[in-house]
Amino acid sequence: MNERRLSCCITFDFDAMSSWIGSLKSHNPSMISRGQFGAVALPRLLRLLDERGIRASFAVPGHTAYAYPRLIDQIVDGGHEICHHGWVHENPASFDEAGERRVLERGLEALERVAGVRPLGYRSPAWDLSPRTVDLLIEYGFQYDSSCMGHDFFPYYLRSGDRWSLDGPYHFGTTVDLVELPVTWLLDDFPPTEFVLGMNTGLQAPSTLEENWRADFDFAYRDCRGGAFVLTLHPQTIGRGRYFLLLERLLDYYADHAGVVFEPMGDYVARWSAANPLEDWVAANPDLTGKHAIEP
Ligand SMILES: [Zn+2]
Repeated sequence: MNERRLSCCITFDFDAMSSWIGSLKSHNPSMISRGQFGAVALPRLLRLLDERGIRASFAVPGHTAYAYPRLIDQIVDGGHEICHHGWVHENPASFDEAGERRVLERGLEALERVAGVRPLGYRSPAWDLSPRTVDLLIEYGFQYDSSCMGHDFFPYYLRSGDRWSLDGPYHFGTTVDLVELPVTWLLDDFPPTEFVLGMNTGLQAPSTLEENWRADFDFAYRDCRGGAFVLTLHPQTIGRGRYFLLLERLLDYYADHAGVVFEPMGDYVARWSAANPLEDWVAANPDLTGKHAIEP
């Protein structure tokens, strides 16, 4: 009997041109063409997932959905999950409330029109949130976020209304019914591989990533039974020769462990939420919810 021991969520942020335009504010066609390579790499990644029988999650900005509707269809036809990833990979904190709503709505409209889906998961571009984002995600019907880093291999519930300053204690807001499936830069392909002048040195050898991404998996597999190992990848990055071969080897390595199940983030979160209702989780995690925090 193959007991479920660790979930492996392979997630792709299919940014295409949007990250260079929205996050990097580039007007350089060469730089933006690095995003176009994502459209070249996506089919080979989908073939790999299909060969291995793996269902993954794809975070797709509205901008990318309109640019490559046929590729988005292939993602959906492959049985993969689509998550919201902004409109054009903008930082939600760079807008006022009306602007942040507009960005959320434009992303939803594009995914509805192109993919016919209303995503349950949100992953913010570059993992930036505004202090309003959690409330807006609940209002727009999202069930989970995957942009924060307050845990390693287990989900948790997010809070609304936290406040902080330099001269006061940390104020914990209310824990709310929005699950966080946490991420980490340690398990993201973009910083160690993509060379961006003045920002990322990138260009690391696949052997370095292989060592790192095996070691974190080994820890999760040994110590985090029932948890989720979330790898964040970008087609324009992981889809290039040496890194594509690395991904093949890693998927083999993960799959060789008894009880490892590959599944989209949404499937894992649905099961976790049912087993860990908000009230039960809050009662079991007084430190993470600020129950005993002192506010003099
Ligand atoms: Zn992204």
